[in-house]
Amino acid sequence: AKETANASFVTFNEHLGQDYINHIRLKKKLKTALFDHRLINHYQPKVNLQNLEATTGEVLVRWQDQQGQFIPPAHFIPIAERTGMINELGRQVHNNICNDLCLVDAFSQSGHILSVNASVMELRNPNYVAQLLERMSQCHVKPHQLEIEVTESTFLDEDRITLENLKQLKKEGFALALDDFGTGYSSLSYLKQVHFDTIKIDRSFVTNIHQSKQNRDIATSLIKLFHDFDCQVVAEGIEFEAEADILRDLGCDFGQGFLYAAPMGIDEYAQYLDCSPIS
Ligand code: C2E
Ligand code: CA
Ligand code: CA
Ligand code: CA
Repeated sequence: AKETANASFVTFNEHLGQDYINHIRLKKKLKTALFDHRLINHYQPKVNLQNLEATTGEVLVRWQDQQGQFIPPAHFIPIAERTGMINELGRQVHNNICNDLCLVDAFSQSGHILSVNASVMELRNPNYVAQLLERMSQCHVKPHQLEIEVTESTFLDEDRITLENLKQLKKEGFALALDDFGTGYSSLSYLKQVHFDTIKIDRSFVTNIHQSKQNRDIATSLIKLFHDFDCQVVAEGIEFEAEADILRDLGCDFGQGFLYAAPMGIDEYAQYLDCSPIS
């Protein structure tokens, strides 16, 4: 019995060791990728569930390593946050928006809004808003052309600077979206402190909503609650027409997901927008 215990102890340790080595490797690779400006932006439309018009698009960072492999943001964003590289990463995402938009004349006239993710760590930077404004002014992007998405966990530590940043973003004319609703914080008190233009219901409540009475009940209550708060509601991760039908019937305003389009590079996105129906 002692041997077995020891054996499993060793494997356990080896796993830990391997994870640790992978983590260090990825950290080094990310540092180089940032240095070489290898990260690019992809864009995924959010569509109006009534007329399928794409009025907004979410900016999603993409990293293809030297071997051509795409590394998922879920793997490297947490590392960027822990190491402080997230500020540089955010800066590059903003700069890439500028570079991409320069290629697409139609954007500035179209009224199209881009939705940008801001991590909890980025929002603790007291200069976040000033820096964002400065970067965007360089490419003539106005605050009303951007929406900043923050996840619910942003409010876990009730950081004073974060709250100030959110209020300042609103004051400057940026729209605010609350991301991944339902995965984080249970108290809704922050809704009284900052007004969110948009609330995104997490994919876990959307998936299979046509077959899950529980998800349908949750979505029904959330949509009513957010409309009472004067927020527009987005359903994340819609993959099937049957899910979209239910959400539309429940009064959900927007949908995002593979049913409409996967995230795509700027050239493809520009084409997609030209082709989308105008109301
Ligand atoms: P998120 O903000 O919740 O972004 C939505 C994620 O769902 C994206 O994953 C998107 O590709 C994926 N998705 C969209 N439609 C569907 C669908 O129909 N089905 C399924 N299964 N997935 C769908 P992605 O791009 O891998 O990003 C993961 C997370 O990484 C994001 O979650 C966000 O929290 C973070 N992230 C991505 N880009 C950035 C960025 O530029 N800055 C920061 N701070 N975080 C980012
Ligand atoms: Ca998001
Ligand atoms: Ca989300
Ligand atoms: Ca989500």
